[in-house]
Amino acid sequence: MSERSRICIVGGGFGGLYTALRLSEFPWTDEQKPKITLIDKSDRFLFSPLLYELITEEMQSWEIAPPFAEVLANTGVIFQQGSVTDINIEAKQVTLQDDTTIPYDRLVLSTGGATPVDIVPGAREHALPFRSLADADRLREKIRLLEGDNPDKIRVAVVGGGYSGVELACKLADRLGEKGRIRIIDRGDQILKDSTDFNRKTAIEALEKNHIWQDLETDVERVEADSISLVYKGQTDTIPVDLVLWTVGNRVSELIKRLPLEQNEQGFLKVEPTLLVKGRDDIFALGDAAESYDRDGKSLPATAQVAFQQSDYCAWNLWASATNRPLLSFGYQPLGEMMTLGTDNATINGLGLKLDGPMAYVARRLVYLYRLPTLKHQLTVGFNWITQPIVELLSS
Ligand SMILES: Cc1cc2nc3c(=O)[nH]c(=O)nc-3n(C[C@H](O)[C@H](O)[C@H](O)COP(=O)(O)OP(=O)(O)OC[C@H]3O[C@@H](n4cnc5c(N)ncnc54)[C@H](O)[C@@H]3O)c2cc1C
Repeated sequence: MSERSRICIVGGGFGGLYTALRLSEFPWTDEQKPKITLIDKSDRFLFSPLLYELITEEMQSWEIAPPFAEVLANTGVIFQQGSVTDINIEAKQVTLQDDTTIPYDRLVLSTGGATPVDIVPGAREHALPFRSLADADRLREKIRLLEGDNPDKIRVAVVGGGYSGVELACKLADRLGEKGRIRIIDRGDQILKDSTDFNRKTAIEALEKNHIWQDLETDVERVEADSISLVYKGQTDTIPVDLVLWTVGNRVSELIKRLPLEQNEQGFLKVEPTLLVKGRDDIFALGDAAESYDRDGKSLPATAQVAFQQSDYCAWNLWASATNRPLLSFGYQPLGEMMTLGTDNATINGLGLKLDGPMAYVARRLVYLYRLPTLKHQLTVGFNWITQPIVELLSS
């Protein structure tokens, strides 16, 4: 009997986990059925668009970060927790930090990106990124300590006026209430430069309502333990802060950078429209680790929406390459964008729909509920959303 072929997926985020889940659903024959291994350094998948909800305690971490073991139960996919430190593309072998090696026939690279907090002096030591569960925990702990000191104001600087910066600032405004003195700092002459006019306008209204200050056309020069130095029109101003949050940038991991594979100037992997890494017929890449294009050649942003849609194509193309079918070129379907703007506010613009306020808040939640991995997890979380208010009412 011939050996089963091996598919190894490195990184279990929107690209990797959903590729694994889709792959497990194909009607493999017994001879074709591959051994699928998903490797992640964390033991849980993170649904990052809902990470803000942990700051306001609207959600709990089990809802937005289910364990891989649970999500992959009964799929046949093997989960291996570990940090990949090396990939030998000639020997076709992945090495983990404890020297475990995992051989493969086909490899998927979906390690996502990282927030570069070393762009200005002091940021690495004093600014908090907001990308992982650990980041959210650190931020909650910092807020708890600041609130414990019981000051009359808590001064927060959020660096970056993109989606993350704006959403985080709005959630923080609700979390800190009257005490919050929040400012968003951005180089550009407006926030949310890549957003739609409708969402930008709604977001600006939310920032104004929450008294969140916008420092536009402003560069960060330095971050200290209790201050931030800002440059506006050549003039440096150092202002006191209690908390600096860094939301700018997306950097590829050192692991990917070191690989002898075709990359763009920033180190993101260059891929064919089929998501095969250029020059390879055994390595696919998707999500934030890859330079993504639509099949029409349009450059795509590093978003969950892109990684999620790519996962369908990646899974299909893995299946096609293993079963001698033609590979498909990735076609992106823009579904619009949604942003949370506080504990009862959001904005949605897409598929001909424009919605803001509490209606958008509910719609955004429902869309994300539907996007959570596995029906079982969707039902558990959905049931909790329905019963939680009743439990709170009864226990008050
Ligand atoms: C706070 C926040 C909010 C966001 N909101 C939105 C939104 O509303 N809409 C939207 O479309 N996008 C949003 N995004 C962007 C979106 O989350 C990313 O674009 C998406 O997660 C990319 O998917 P990915 O699979 O490439 O990477 P990720 O989802 O980041 O997954 C990468 C995985 O690889 C693992 N990994 C990395 N290196 C290694 C290694 N060496 N060894 C083992 N495992 C490794 C990581 O642990 C991680 O699980 C948001 C991002 C953040 C941080």
